[in-house]
Amino acid sequence: MTATVECESVYRFFHAGDDETLALRGVTMAVQGGETVAVTGPSGSGKSTLLACLAGLDEPDGGTVRVAGERLTRRTEEERARIRSSRIGMLFQSVNLVGHLDVDANLALVQRLAGRNGGAELRTGILERVGIADRASARPSQLSGGELARAGFAVAIVNDPPLLLCDEPTGELDEQSAAGLLDLLSERAEGGGAVIVVTHNPGVADSADRVIRLRDGAIDAGNAP
Ligand code: ADP
Ligand code: MG
Repeated sequence: MTATVECESVYRFFHAGDDETLALRGVTMAVQGGETVAVTGPSGSGKSTLLACLAGLDEPDGGTVRVAGERLTRRTEEERARIRSSRIGMLFQSVNLVGHLDVDANLALVQRLAGRNGGAELRTGILERVGIADRASARPSQLSGGELARAGFAVAIVNDPPLLLCDEPTGELDEQSAAGLLDLLSERAEGGGAVIVVTHNPGVADSADRVIRLRDGAIDAGNAP
C-alpha cells in the first residue's frame, strides 16, 4: 500500500553566522490513510520544521518527501504550492484565516486557490459538520477561540485533502474546545485521511494510533514500540 505521506532521510540545517543548527537529522517515516500519528518531543526538537517539510512550505537540505504518491521535494515553490493546495490541509496555531473575510469567504478562497468549484452547498455542509454553520458570515475577530479552531479546521479540510498536518492545534484552547477539535481530527482519520498532529498534550498523544518522538532532530528510537 502506498503511504499517504512518506519521507526518507530528511535533513534540514539552519545557518546563523558560524552557528549551524541541525534541525532535522535524517528523519524517515510514513503515515497511511486512516492513521493518526502524534509527533511529540521537547521544544526545539524539530517538530515544526518536520511539518513544514512535509507540507512543502520548506525545502529540506536532503532527503525526499512524497504526498499521495507525488514527490514534493526538489520542486519549484509553484509546483509545491499546487501539490499542497490539492493534497494537504494545514492546521497551525497561527490562524489560517484571512482577517477581513468572513468564514464562508475564507472557505471559498481556499476552494478557488485549489481550482475547485465546490460551491456554497459544500461549504455549508462542512460548517454544519464542524458545528459553526451559524457563524458563516462572521469574521475571524468575531469568533471565540473554539469557533476559530473549528473555522480553521474547516479551511484545512474544505478541499478534502488526503493529508492533514496540525501543529499544536489544541495549544490555546480550553479543554472542551480541544476535545471538540480532537473529535474532528479522529473523524477525519476514520474517513480515510492521514492525520499528523504535533502536540504537547498527553491526551492528544494517547488518542493517536502511533506516537513519533523527536529528539534533537531525529526520531527517538528509544521510544519505539
Ligand atoms: P519544535 O517545533 O520542535 O519546537 P523547531 O522545528 O521549531 O522545533 O526548531 C528546531 C530547531 O531549528 C531549533 O533549534 C530552532 O531554533 C531551529 N530553527 C527552526 N527554524 C529556524 C529558522 N528559520 N532559522 C534558524 N533556525 C531555525
Ligand atoms: Mg514548534
